[in-house]
Amino acid sequence: METRDRIHIDGEWVEPHGEERLELVDPRTGEVHATVRLADATDVDRAVAGARRVADHGPAWPVAARVAALRALHDRISERADLFADTMSAEMGSPAAFARQVQVGMPLATLATTADVLEGYAFDEPLGDSTIAREPIGVVAAITPWNFPLHQALAKVGAALAAGCPVVLKPAETTPLTAYLLVEAARDAGVPAGWLQLLPGRGSVLGSALAQHPDVDMVSFTGSTAVGRSIQRDAAGTIKRVALELGGKSPSVLLDDLDDEAFARAVRTSVGFGLMNTGQTCAAWTRLVVPEERYDDAVALASETARAFVPGENLGPLASEVQWDRVAGHLARAVEEGAEVVHGDPAPARPERGFHLGPVVLGRVTPEMAIGREEVFGPVVAIQTHGGDDDAVRLANATDYGLSAGVFGADPDRAFAVARRIRSGTVHVNGINGNKLAPFGGYKQSGLGREYGRFGLEEFLEIKSIQPPPRG
Ligand code: NAD
Repeated sequence: METRDRIHIDGEWVEPHGEERLELVDPRTGEVHATVRLADATDVDRAVAGARRVADHGPAWPVAARVAALRALHDRISERADLFADTMSAEMGSPAAFARQVQVGMPLATLATTADVLEGYAFDEPLGDSTIAREPIGVVAAITPWNFPLHQALAKVGAALAAGCPVVLKPAETTPLTAYLLVEAARDAGVPAGWLQLLPGRGSVLGSALAQHPDVDMVSFTGSTAVGRSIQRDAAGTIKRVALELGGKSPSVLLDDLDDEAFARAVRTSVGFGLMNTGQTCAAWTRLVVPEERYDDAVALASETARAFVPGENLGPLASEVQWDRVAGHLARAVEEGAEVVHGDPAPARPERGFHLGPVVLGRVTPEMAIGREEVFGPVVAIQTHGGDDDAVRLANATDYGLSAGVFGADPDRAFAVARRIRSGTVHVNGINGNKLAPFGGYKQSGLGREYGRFGLEEFLEIKSIQPPPRG
């Protein structure tokens, strides 16, 4: 069984001040697979002091060297792709193929883009007779969730290092092992001492201390909206910048001009995205919004798509017992509030081994039902019906979230027009586009700020106007 009992500060693996040891449970089996010794608030001070020294007094880390390190990091992770994938499968249950292709493949693509963007980025630009300089914001605390352990960490760490900011990384309690592999890869890639600290531990202790810390200049957080709120409160005392990638209840809207074949394709794509990673994807399309007259077709097609997701084969377990209970609670409430069960078991018994739960498709879901508004973070898709484009837009926007959306229509101009009316950080039209140059982030309570590409890099930069003396 794997044991990790060091934290990473100033380029060294050191003993933490914290003494608590946490047992990590493999969600595929429910058995303990590793133990980690957790950092505490004293370790936060040590790690932030290390990062602060680099930010304030460290030798310069030139852009060309940062580009080279990010490319080397890409290579080190690629070489160890199987190890990363197996580790994530054990930590949060991803099936092997998904772990390899998506849990490892996606962050590699994002990192390559970050290096490309940095290589071509103009940190200074003239504006009138002034110079606009973009400078690193300083020490960054990166707080990440468990659902895409490498991707979420690297989206922040890659962009922050690219910007020239030292980072303190605080991964989710249940997925620190991937973060250890990332730090080892970063060391091997030549990321200099002090630029990447690692603190495994509890969010309520470490996350909160980082958000409050006077020597942390920015918190970049991905996780739940509830914790995002708490981080904003904690950060308010020092007016630090806060970037938040939060939850979603994302719709896929099918317009009424699709022929049968395109309609079927759209349902399959949408439900597939809703169930990806066992529904534990912030951007998942968990609401399928179809024309009223096509409800029966949608039910049949969505059920058929869901049936192809087999627990223990191509559908991983939920990542933890807590998550299993949460999802079961959402299902019970949905049935109580009148949602139709069109596929799956809405009252599942807890499995004897691991935290598997089969996909569920619910029909006749309205925005008044909790299942129509609240994020489930499990393999549950809700079907809603609309009476035309205006009604579809109303339904699409009828949640507090606004992270991602899909629009499918035969007339691309009409589909684009609907896409413009959806209040969401990303809207995909007629398919899922994986452009990692495009920014990703939320409207409304799905967050603040953007990740990926140029927008992701600029999150970590301050803007300075350098003004020449007045003329004349
Ligand atoms: P979470 O909010 O419980 O935890 C996320 C991180 O915050 C963890 O590292 C945790 O330890 C830490 N944390 C917990 N309490 C804290 C506190 N008081 N102060 C500071 N940090 C604290 O979320 P989760 O359960 O790990 O992840 C699931 C949630 O993340 C879902 O709501 C999902 O939508 C969201 N998510 C969003 C995105 C996105 O990009 N928008 C991506 C992935 C996940």
